[in-house]
Amino acid sequence: MTTSQQLAGYCRSQEDWLIGTIEALVTLESPTDVKDAVDTCGAELARRLAEIGGKVTTVTTSSAGNHLRAEFGSGSRQILLLGHFDTVWPVGQLQHMPLQRDGDKLMGPGVLDMKAGIGLAMLATRALFHLAEGAQARIVMLWTTDEETGSHTSRALLETEARQSAAVLVLEPALPGGVLKTSRKGCGEYEVVVRGEAAHAGVDPGKGVSAIRELARQILALETLHDLSRGVSVNVGIISGGTRPNVVAAEARARVDVRAPTMAEADRVDTAIRGLTPHLSGAQVEVSGGFDRPPMERTAGVARLFEMAQQVGSELGQTIGEGSTGGGSDGNFCAALGVPTLDGLGALGDGAHAVHEHVLVSGLVHRATLLSALLTLLAASSE
Ligand SMILES: [Zn+2]
Repeated sequence: MTTSQQLAGYCRSQEDWLIGTIEALVTLESPTDVKDAVDTCGAELARRLAEIGGKVTTVTTSSAGNHLRAEFGSGSRQILLLGHFDTVWPVGQLQHMPLQRDGDKLMGPGVLDMKAGIGLAMLATRALFHLAEGAQARIVMLWTTDEETGSHTSRALLETEARQSAAVLVLEPALPGGVLKTSRKGCGEYEVVVRGEAAHAGVDPGKGVSAIRELARQILALETLHDLSRGVSVNVGIISGGTRPNVVAAEARARVDVRAPTMAEADRVDTAIRGLTPHLSGAQVEVSGGFDRPPMERTAGVARLFEMAQQVGSELGQTIGEGSTGGGSDGNFCAALGVPTLDGLGALGDGAHAVHEHVLVSGLVHRATLLSALLTLLAASSE
């Protein structure tokens, strides 16, 4: 029997354990902004990580839930398995989206994004150490708690671990059909604040400086940066300003989401947005914000990792494709450091951040097997 077949057999034999693990995590709701709830979920996850042999460290934070680091094996070559257990759903969402099976679907808040991914990583790691005794690798899992709000308290931690790793495998959901993510756009958010001068719109229409008139010009300038042929999107998503119809507006503001596929494009757009200048004399334009997540570019290291995934996939009879997404993840931070990073290794399903969120049960064991085979190959590799 080949190693692939053994891994597949082991993962198949643990399907009930896998589903039970995922269900236990989904049952403990963990919205990013409710620390107590996140920490309760984290405590259960920590207990389960220790149960399968992980050396678990809880990294406490005051402004978010505590992050978890779990280490398996003692090799010198570190492979990082990365993900988050915070979700976008409030406490009580389970009443509206109960954890339930519907045919091949396992439904529930946070099941796809990305508690199933954590379960998959745990099973794949168990399989690796069950079969490949004396593996050269050291598997480090980092499960963070503020990915959904920008990873402000976890970024330094995950970057430190990524720098020490030969590869980073991110357990975010797969693209449709199980396709892996080899590139992600960088994500920026800006606020443009315009200040003018108030005046009576009827009595003194020639006086004052309309911040709204100025902002309208700024929005048109921002729109010229929106260029999908370059993969760049610029979305003015919120505007506000003014006080009354008969007052020339003294202030107006816009909030803008920006996505860019490469660092070069991100820098170009960033420079243009920061360089916005007023058209009307007497108006002031202030820009704040920037790129929160750098682009995850398809570097040679990323491509090599994907080829390895394809190779083990074909040994398992799985055809593995690659794709890109405009959504960011913590994989962006790791890839931007130059560490080979592969994302989307998590579950198949649909409806992340939506009420029909679910994973496909029939895909779970396949994904765990794919990951365990990739870990086995990485552990044996000396690159
Ligand atoms: Zn996620």
